[in-house]
Amino acid sequence: MEKMLTGRQVLEQQWYLTKFCFKKAPGFMAYHLFESVKLQISIFMEFTWTVNYVLNVVEQGGDFRKVLWCMGLLMVGIALSTVTFAIYKQYMLPRMKPVLYQALRMEIYGKARELDLACYDDKDFYEQFILATGETDQCIDRYLEYMDVVAGRFVGAISSLVFCLLINPAAFLMMFLILPAEICLVIKENRKTVEARMERLTHEQKREYGNRVFYLADYAGELRLYPEMKQKCRADYEASNEQIQEINRKYGKRLFMLGALRDALLSWTVLEGIVWTVLLYQMLVLQTLSGAGLITSRSCIRRLRQNMESIIGGCRMAAENAEYIYRIRALLQRGSVMDCSGQEKVPAGSGSLQVEHVAFSYLPGKPVLRDVNLRVHTGQKIALVGYNGSGKTTLVKLLLRLYDPSAGSIRYHGRDIKDYQVNDYRRSVGSVFQDFKIYAATLKENVLMDVEEGSREENYLVEKALYNAHFTLEDRRLAYQIQTPLTTEFEKEGVNLSGGEAQKVAIARTLYRKQGLIIMDEPSSALDPLAEYRLNQELNQIAKDKTVIFISHRLSTTRDADCIYMMEEGQIVEAGTHEELLQREGKYAAMWKIQAGLYA
Ligand code: ADP
Repeated sequence: MEKMLTGRQVLEQQWYLTKFCFKKAPGFMAYHLFESVKLQISIFMEFTWTVNYVLNVVEQGGDFRKVLWCMGLLMVGIALSTVTFAIYKQYMLPRMKPVLYQALRMEIYGKARELDLACYDDKDFYEQFILATGETDQCIDRYLEYMDVVAGRFVGAISSLVFCLLINPAAFLMMFLILPAEICLVIKENRKTVEARMERLTHEQKREYGNRVFYLADYAGELRLYPEMKQKCRADYEASNEQIQEINRKYGKRLFMLGALRDALLSWTVLEGIVWTVLLYQMLVLQTLSGAGLITSRSCIRRLRQNMESIIGGCRMAAENAEYIYRIRALLQRGSVMDCSGQEKVPAGSGSLQVEHVAFSYLPGKPVLRDVNLRVHTGQKIALVGYNGSGKTTLVKLLLRLYDPSAGSIRYHGRDIKDYQVNDYRRSVGSVFQDFKIYAATLKENVLMDVEEGSREENYLVEKALYNAHFTLEDRRLAYQIQTPLTTEFEKEGVNLSGGEAQKVAIARTLYRKQGLIIMDEPSSALDPLAEYRLNQELNQIAKDKTVIFISHRLSTTRDADCIYMMEEGQIVEAGTHEELLQREGKYAAMWKIQAGLYA
């Protein structure tokens, strides 16, 4: 289990969220606090001050008009208060809460965009990230709730204390005998509750994963085909449920004992008995307390207790919330480990690319690339081939600067790619990955990968890129041509593309942008052999003057490359043209023979 935050850390998290909320919605936050405080002041005025005033007037045989005035003022106050509360509840709250949700989410998503891809390989970080993103709305909800409680009830408690001190100092002292014991017990109870919550966290995450597997469409088809996997997921889901129940049972006993002790020691009945006895003694024996004083003192003590209980409850909520805010902040403070200080602009057009003694590992002690060297001259087409897991995709990720090598360097246009502005460099490289995504947007936007200008030229270029990628627009499903929405996520009329069609859209993205370096990781894996053959011819034609790196495990698609690099266990083991490599009769030739046999 993770260590719980200290009191100071809990306070720091509240301060952070206070600054955040006041910065994003200052007017709303001020109104929120005003309403919380106003509610407690009106309760005090109505049930303590007015009762005391009226009873005093009655006891002293005073003028009834005074009572009428007092009641009239109270009614006007309550009416005004009802109006301001209605504005807050019906108008402000529903409008402004989503603004705060959105602000916090955007902060996290903005950060997520900046994060190194390497962060996602860090299991602990990834878990924290999922937790933080899943809790943003609740963090704001809890914060508003306990701010309401703490601010309002604090004013309520102070007003009861001060009034009690003024009218009955002895009762004031009595409150100080009762409160500390109660506060100690409740704080202990709170700590245990938060501890239980933290211990449940990992299991709750597993349970949440189980939930996702059972309700998300992504898994639905496969789980029907592999019922054993479904059973395994179900077993894991049930195991996490069992763990959660076990923790609930463990803490349930302790919490029950603490609660019972608190109730037994400080139950309302015992306390009420003591309070009434002391107050009646003051009134009847000592004759230092009037009837009005008795009722008001009793009301003050009761309200003080209620307020203190609420404040403690609010603190408990704050402690729990702090655990989430702490994680969100850790995420927001996480800096990039990649060196992003490079400021150079990438020169226009194609350039040469050199990979020099590059090594890389995702996890410490597990090298994935070792001393990789390759050189691609301007306009050359090279192929990276090798069996699955040999490190081809990893090398591509390094070439795209999604990760930095742990040793060695990559040079483009003669300069270390770290010297270039990172986003400018990434934009200058066209890439088609195996795991590209189609977005819930129009076909055109999926090619542009940007907000459209809407110009005719833009439409023409998008259509041309799609045409060159062999994506045919005549299909009757594409009723709106390039404006056809893709995926049925939000649009009933949306079109779900087949794997091959989607891959052509991904290729069209690269063809649309005029980048000098193109990297294709298995770009034709989802195409049928004829479509693949045509596409390769086309790509060679279109990318005539570009530097191209092509990855494929189908050697028939890479045989025309100017140079083929064969990778094995993170190293380049052979390099040369197709003919040279066949003559060498090494690993490439062996792989070629196997594939030729397979496809013969
Ligand atoms: P290829 O593209 O040749 O199939 P990859 O570059 O995808 O090979 O993978 C090379 C090795 O790196 C494999 O052993 C794979 O398990 C490992 N690997 C790939 N991605 C990650 C990752 N994000 N975290 C840890 N290991 C990874």
